[in-house]
Amino acid sequence: MTTTESRGGSRLLTDSYGRIVRDLRISVTDRCNFRCGYCMPPDGLKWLPRAEILTFEEIERIARLFVERLGVESIRLTGGEPTVRADLTLLVGLLAKIRTPDHRPVEVAMTTNGAKLARMAQDLRDAGLQRINVSVDSLRRDRFAQITRRDALEEVLEGVGAAVAVGLHPVKVNVVVVRGWNEDEVVDFAEFGRRTGVQPRFIEFMPLDADGTWSMDKVVGADEIVAAIDAVYPLEEVEHGPEPASRWRYKDGAGQIGVIPSVTKPFCGDCDRVRLTAEGSFMTCLFARDDYDFRTALRGGASDDELAALAATAVGLKWAGHRIGKVDFVRPRRSMSQIGG
Ligand code: SAM
Repeated sequence: MTTTESRGGSRLLTDSYGRIVRDLRISVTDRCNFRCGYCMPPDGLKWLPRAEILTFEEIERIARLFVERLGVESIRLTGGEPTVRADLTLLVGLLAKIRTPDHRPVEVAMTTNGAKLARMAQDLRDAGLQRINVSVDSLRRDRFAQITRRDALEEVLEGVGAAVAVGLHPVKVNVVVVRGWNEDEVVDFAEFGRRTGVQPRFIEFMPLDADGTWSMDKVVGADEIVAAIDAVYPLEEVEHGPEPASRWRYKDGAGQIGVIPSVTKPFCGDCDRVRLTAEGSFMTCLFARDDYDFRTALRGGASDDELAALAATAVGLKWAGHRIGKVDFVRPRRSMSQIGG
């Protein structure tokens, strides 16, 4: 088992495969105002009682520990739907003040369904939010309503426009591509990106839907997505670091797309992220079978050293990667909205 190693004033969280944790995903709520078919059932899920959700002070304390002492450089807020958590901009403000040991501000990003973004984008930006991903799975109103079970395409596109207008650059648009639902729209999304300057990120459908209807034949692979767009707007691959998206740019210079091939070409070998669920469980992978209870530790009076030791234990046991599509794959007990995507 590997533990932490020292470097540059912080103790890096390094796992036994040599991967260093740099990115912390924090879910601020398990609730959502959408019911996307690849994520949640039509009637929602059993929500966590409020008392079980981490407070802003608890989230800030954990974030500070990871950034100031454990080598994390970026934080992404997610959910559920982060914008349904009251006073979210306050939390963004608290997190944006955190500095790395060499005095750099931590990067604060968010993933949202965008329905409330038109009203919130400026405040979020002013509070210190730097980057945003907005989920949009169809550009056709009826189909959008079918997939999300909410007739909200107009509000969401206004939200995307507001994010661009306030300078949350580059705005990324997450598209989960599901066979038979929306794979015929990938070129439309490419055109949307070329026209508006936002960057589409096509995500392969993962077995994290609460309904358990995922199957391999519903996955539209990254190669197929890239080929469909390349046939109309020629692409070339961009070299990229540890981020999960493989990136492609248009040969005519009109922007980029990202593709997240979690199923067909898992990028676990480069994974630099860990996750904190809304109720304070620490997970080293979306598909991890074990989680580590930070909330009980926090509320039981654990010191920062004790919390750091818990994080090091968890990261030390991080596995090589998920096994989607293999016979020994086991679905995690939580769905995507309960973990924080
Ligand atoms: N509510 C926010 C949103 O819609 O972006 C944030 C939370 S959502 C769980 C985060 C991302 O996970 C979204 O881009 C969503 O489309 C994606 N997602 C949810 N379920 C998924 C699944 N089964 N496979 C792949 N991506 C999924």
